[in-house]
Amino acid sequence: MVQDFDRTLVRAQAIAAEHSDRVRWEEVIPYSRTKFVALARSLVSGWAERDIESLFLPFDGHRTPSEQAKLFLKRPRVTNARPWQSPHNWGCAVDFVAFTADGWSWDANEDWDGLGSYAAAHGLTQPIKWDRPHIEDPGAWTIIRPLAGLR
Ligand SMILES: [Zn+2]
Repeated sequence: MVQDFDRTLVRAQAIAAEHSDRVRWEEVIPYSRTKFVALARSLVSGWAERDIESLFLPFDGHRTPSEQAKLFLKRPRVTNARPWQSPHNWGCAVDFVAFTADGWSWDANEDWDGLGSYAAAHGLTQPIKWDRPHIEDPGAWTIIRPLAGLR
């Protein structure tokens, strides 16, 4: 069971600031960055206002091809995407993970549907059923996919 903790906006913003260096925002393409930053802010205030049950923070953004290669080889498998095949490699995807009093949580009980709704409100999608933290920008990825050699 995931423990709850102080839900004030000030506390939520402090937690978010403490963990703000996980994503290299300058490597997220500007077109998508605006949406992801707005999403990150609204997830923090939404949690403080009890509109969403979990506090979701940005966990992973742009990945270099070599970072993607390392992730691809990880077991148990965490991604099917080889270098250049993930929208993360093109700076148009960010993973959001729940942060709890016990630390980062991928627990199925976290409010992943809420994360999807917040993403949709910012023009972003949560397209992978088995990878709920994964949020991508369909506006950018639709254009980039063919450039990446993907259909
Ligand atoms: Zn992802």
